[in-house]
Amino acid sequence: MVSRKPLVAGNWKMNFDHIEATYFVQKLAWILRDAHFSYRNCEVMLMPPFTSIRSVQVLIESDRLKLSYGAQYVSVTNQGAFTGDVSADMLAALGCSYVLVGHSERRKYHPEDDANIVDQVRAVLAAGMKPILCVGESFEERRQGIELEYAVGQVHDVTRDLSDQQASELVIAYEPVWAIGSGMVATPQIAQQAASAIRSHLRSEYDDNVADRVRILYGGSVNPSNASELMASGRDIDGFLVGGAALDAEQFATIARLT
Ligand code: PGA
Repeated sequence: MVSRKPLVAGNWKMNFDHIEATYFVQKLAWILRDAHFSYRNCEVMLMPPFTSIRSVQVLIESDRLKLSYGAQYVSVTNQGAFTGDVSADMLAALGCSYVLVGHSERRKYHPEDDANIVDQVRAVLAAGMKPILCVGESFEERRQGIELEYAVGQVHDVTRDLSDQQASELVIAYEPVWAIGSGMVATPQIAQQAASAIRSHLRSEYDDNVADRVRILYGGSVNPSNASELMASGRDIDGFLVGGAALDAEQFATIARLT
């Protein structure tokens, strides 16, 4: 059985310019460095907006901080006349290890369908980074009782043509849309049930190695008061994708400590 290192990822969304980002990383590093603050159990990761990535990189590298970082979106093309786009190679050159793919806010506000999301996953993998694929039902699918089929279906639609090797590089974030930014966190049972359904799907589509290696995160109103209970809900949740609480260094560090 492969052991999975938990991951706590902070999705800053469209917050923190490069000066605010610098302040945040310095404060987070100061908290995490405290000898009494033990978080060594998990990988801590930040996803700043594009314009703040370079500042975060410089700080992390110059201070040798044990923090990973990544981006919130990537273009499916690698170079050329695509005004406004940022390529996977550009992100990899900045030292990004991860890219968020298919977040519900991107699916809602931008024309990102499954085909585009598949291409983003491929672009991220080809550049040597790991995609964090976001899936999760809206309140309507939950009302209809089809939430598990829906979330697993989203995983299936994006991963079905990946090789075992490619699939094993994925991180999957189960983020029920109704829980994002709403304060309505999923119960530990709901989160574990969805993570378990996703892992079973990976086991049936790929080999045990893929199913055992892929980290599955829960996201949606995670904060320091619910993180421990969510982590303790079962063996399939390997950490969190955090939005609002990732904008407060104390809260984010506390979530990392509890993971
Ligand atoms: P939230 O956001 O923690 O503010 O609910 C999570 C996310 O959108 O990734």
